[in-house]
Amino acid sequence: MMKEISAKLAIDGGTPIRTSVLPYGHHFIDEDDIAAVVEVLCSDWLTTGPKIAEFEEAFSQMVGARKAVAVSSGTAALHAAMYAIGIEPGDEVIVPAITFAATANCVVFQGGIPIFVDVDKDTLLIDPHQVEAKISPRTKAIIAVDYAGQPCEYDLLREIAQRYGLFLIADACHALGAKYKGQPVGSLADVSVFSFHPVKHITTGEGGMITTDDERVAHRLRLFRNHGISTDHHERSLKGSFYYEVVDLGYNYRLTDFQCALGLSQLRKLPEFLRRRHIVAERYNQVFSAHPFVEPLVVRSDVFHSYHLYVVRLHLDRMITDRAQIFRALRAEGIGVNVHYLPVYLHPYYRRLFATKPGLCPVAESMYQRIITLPISAAMTMEDVDDVILAVDKVTRYYGRCN
Ligand SMILES: *Cc1c(COP(=O)(O)O)cnc(C)c1O
Repeated sequence: MMKEISAKLAIDGGTPIRTSVLPYGHHFIDEDDIAAVVEVLCSDWLTTGPKIAEFEEAFSQMVGARKAVAVSSGTAALHAAMYAIGIEPGDEVIVPAITFAATANCVVFQGGIPIFVDVDKDTLLIDPHQVEAKISPRTKAIIAVDYAGQPCEYDLLREIAQRYGLFLIADACHALGAKYKGQPVGSLADVSVFSFHPVKHITTGEGGMITTDDERVAHRLRLFRNHGISTDHHERSLKGSFYYEVVDLGYNYRLTDFQCALGLSQLRKLPEFLRRRHIVAERYNQVFSAHPFVEPLVVRSDVFHSYHLYVVRLHLDRMITDRAQIFRALRAEGIGVNVHYLPVYLHPYYRRLFATKPGLCPVAESMYQRIITLPISAAMTMEDVDDVILAVDKVTRYYGRCN
């Protein structure tokens, strides 16, 4: 049954499409997940126990990487990756203009300098054709962000990284389960980073994972998550089991056993989670690819998208208002829209530290004015999806020039 739609916008005192706000992302936890956590809580190991390696093993297999190292968040994973590849003060690391701040913050944690590269207007992925111009003798790495869940153009990025002797890092926090030319994200870069925050594909509350084929990098990652303590068992057995050495500066970035148990249980549901996200995305695509006021991002044909986010571009030239008003009006209708993201270099901290200014990445800046993220998650029902579509129609048509 179709809902009776009040023509008056909720923001102007009309009846909202929904009375409780539909969040832009939400976790999905079931009885298996709860039982898996409870089992570990009743065991001898709450942390540094057997579930860590079990989760790492299952994860590395899922993404086709030799090694996986579990850490306490996606941000910790990025920080550990920067340490593991040897980023030092003054080193430059190329990052896309549009991403979550942690992608660039991790470079700064190590004293490095993030160098911002503009994005493609249709995908909001780092534009590989603009990367080369930003490479200097101090450049050490490129961080590619699989924005919204679409893998970057890895063939081109890998070729550039190889030619200049740079590390290629994938910030794959949006892209667990995605594929590029049939290859899973997690096996496409030298080092790949994932997050298990509740809005991501699978959750451990907070949590993260790093994957790599390089045993030396994996060793440094394990060192970094545990205070820089060397876990060389041979050395320990020679000098007595109490003996350990701090060989470098590390942190406590460990993930607990009960979180890893949750992660294992969630990972088994990943195919189903992806299937549900695709159902939502396909319904949105159907409606919005022919919509007068919104336009979905372009999905390349050589990828399997994992739809962490569903982002549309507003046709502001056909409307009598701006994104901020559309945002407020949709929120008032009970739709938990969001914006991903302000170009990182426009955050006050970055402006202060690196003297970055508007004009640096014109595509990112102009797209930022137009983008809005619609709710998508494995927990959404088709009624939720219909509410979003109704609300987008109601609000954009109201502000449309030709209404
Ligand atoms: C979520 C996210 C992170 C950080 O992950 P946390 O687990 O929240 O620390 C980093 N980069 C991107 C692109 C993300 O979406």
